[in-house]
Amino acid sequence: MRGAYVQWFANENRPQVNGRPLIFLDRDGVLNLGRQGYVNTPAELELLPGAAQAVGALRRAGYLICVVTNQSAISRGKWDHHRLTEIHTTLLDALQLGDPDAHIDLVITCPHKYEDDCRCRKPMPGMLLLGRSLLNQASSHNIECASEMYEIPHYDVDWWGEKPTSIHPLDAMVGDRRSDMGAGWSQGVRLFRVNQYRGLIDVIERILDESDTGDKFQP
Ligand SMILES: [Mg+2]
Ligand SMILES: [Zn+2]
Repeated sequence: MRGAYVQWFANENRPQVNGRPLIFLDRDGVLNLGRQGYVNTPAELELLPGAAQAVGALRRAGYLICVVTNQSAISRGKWDHHRLTEIHTTLLDALQLGDPDAHIDLVITCPHKYEDDCRCRKPMPGMLLLGRSLLNQASSHNIECASEMYEIPHYDVDWWGEKPTSIHPLDAMVGDRRSDMGAGWSQGVRLFRVNQYRGLIDVIERILDESDTGDKFQP
């Protein structure tokens, strides 16, 4: 099993990528409550308070939004990409119910476990690179929600070098773990680490403050 699962969601209002900042959001502990083990079913998905309104605020501020999530339950054979689609459809519906502006453009999932030695599992940046590349060609992809597998583009990361420069100065990564920060760091984006029980609402004011360059991080 190579590559990452990609899900596109219906969004006639998807803005043009050019000139827009792109924000990568981890899922568990950022949008919804993480669980011991995994979120295994749509019924186990519990949105964090304020998450929908925070995603809506990002969209109103002009951000393109890409969720990047590690879900090794798939590689472990606990469930498959059909279940993944159900869980993410439920997530997107719940967000929209909370705030009609809370559109997510793209959800990318690494199905692997650490030992699979893949190129997508965070802290590797494969899902971020794939997300940016797909959103750059977004007009040709629309209104899909079935999971499709995509190859990860080639990349090199110099973990011992300086933090690279991001494509857009406001690009950002939000997560509750070091691995999220590492993936964002390797792409040079602003980093915002959240408390796993509060999630995105924890940092939304900071993200929208264009003078906030994000959290310091040393790989
Ligand atoms: Mg997380
Ligand atoms: Zn992977």
